[in-house]
Amino acid sequence: MKSKNTVLILGISSILILISVQVFIITGIWKQKNQMFALQYTILSKEALSYFSRRMPSDGFDTVRFILRKYSEQAVNELHSAKDEADFKSRKKDVLDYFTTVINKEQDLSSMLSTYFERRGFAKNFNYSISINNLELISNDTVVVYRNEDFSNRVPPAGNQRSPAPDISRSKILVNWFQWEDNDYRIFFFYFIDFSNQRNMILKEISGSLGLSTLSILLVGIMFLITFRNLKEEQRLSNLKTDFINNMTHELKTPLSTITVAGKTLEMPQIRSNDSKILETAKLIGKQSVHLNQLINMILEISMWERTQFQLDKRIVDIEEVMNDIVDSFKSGGGNNATINKKYNFNGAKVDLDVIYFTTLVNNLLSNAVKYSDKVPVIDVEGFTEDNNIYIKVSDNGIGINKIDQKHIFDKFYRASTGNIHKFKGLGLGLYYVKKIVEAHGGDVTVSSKPGKGSTFTVILPANA
Ligand code: ADP
Repeated sequence: MKSKNTVLILGISSILILISVQVFIITGIWKQKNQMFALQYTILSKEALSYFSRRMPSDGFDTVRFILRKYSEQAVNELHSAKDEADFKSRKKDVLDYFTTVINKEQDLSSMLSTYFERRGFAKNFNYSISINNLELISNDTVVVYRNEDFSNRVPPAGNQRSPAPDISRSKILVNWFQWEDNDYRIFFFYFIDFSNQRNMILKEISGSLGLSTLSILLVGIMFLITFRNLKEEQRLSNLKTDFINNMTHELKTPLSTITVAGKTLEMPQIRSNDSKILETAKLIGKQSVHLNQLINMILEISMWERTQFQLDKRIVDIEEVMNDIVDSFKSGGGNNATINKKYNFNGAKVDLDVIYFTTLVNNLLSNAVKYSDKVPVIDVEGFTEDNNIYIKVSDNGIGINKIDQKHIFDKFYRASTGNIHKFKGLGLGLYYVKKIVEAHGGDVTVSSKPGKGSTFTVILPANA
């Protein structure tokens, strides 16, 4: 138990460590790829801008400048004719809105960039955004229409037309800043681009490493599960074997101690002079020896089955006759306190079977029906043919079997836990024996049961018409 828990803890911890390491590596790659992505498009944009300035007649803002020149002339007058402070503020806002709309709508830089990106084999679909940092209307007294708080920090030295350093930490990629001054206004703004499918593009790029790391976690998980299951199974088998040895010792001890006591009894002078007592004790010894022999044979036979193929001595028999023989002799033997109801509908079916093994099979089912009963046993033995198969059902009114035990009762050494394992004696081999015999005949055996209500065992064998 201790070692199982250690394996469980070690296994789960190593999987957790592996997952954390993989997550750490993948997030690192993700961040790096994001930065690379931004850097790549920043460099590409720079190349594009330098290409435009060398080869193109326009920087993409000619129309914008044309419209704004006209507008700013009239905007200066409008601002100066404001009635009060509130009116002045609202007019400033209108001016800013107009500038923003015109720059956004009338610029050609985006389509120029898009064409350039496409020609260079890069993604051409991006969103752009413009962020005005400073807008002034120039007249006798210059009006600052809008000024961003950090404008003064970011404004480049006059005359220096180099772009600011790329800001690769944000998802928006800064292509360039623009600054120009006309007769009536002065403006400074940033032009950004971003890719809405950037996530997917990067995901596609790292899908190989992502897939491999998921696969490695999965494989380790599966390996751990298999190892743990094997360990559990081993432990279950070892527990079963321990139970079996306990049960077997108990089973073998009972007839042995009876024989020992009987031997001691025979030594007593008063018994030796009594013929009927000697006979009674000798019979008891004989009966217990037969029982001992049966137990030992069953164990030996099962261990022999493990090594060699099941050897059946089959012959064609009338199944109804065989069933009658078995059930009748059971009734006069171990099952004499039970009520056994027979209902056969075999229609004279013939079956190819080993009668000795088949007798053991039915006897095991009948004796379990008697053994696992807490009241006077009532057993229904039903038999019929269907679809060229023989069905034999043995139903009892006993203690029943819960769902979990039902899955294991045909396993070797398995005994359902009844609280006290010695309350019902046994070795957990009877049903294993039944299953082996049925399978050797090409058939199957199933159980249906409800705890407290009783159980039904159904044996299906192929019929020989
Ligand atoms: P054993 O009887 O020696 O324990 P079996 O292989 O015959 O071994 O049965 C396995 C287990 O199945 C039993 O321990 C018992 O719990 C359960 N079982 C078998 N037959 C019945 C039955 N008719 N009613 C209730 N439980 C049963």
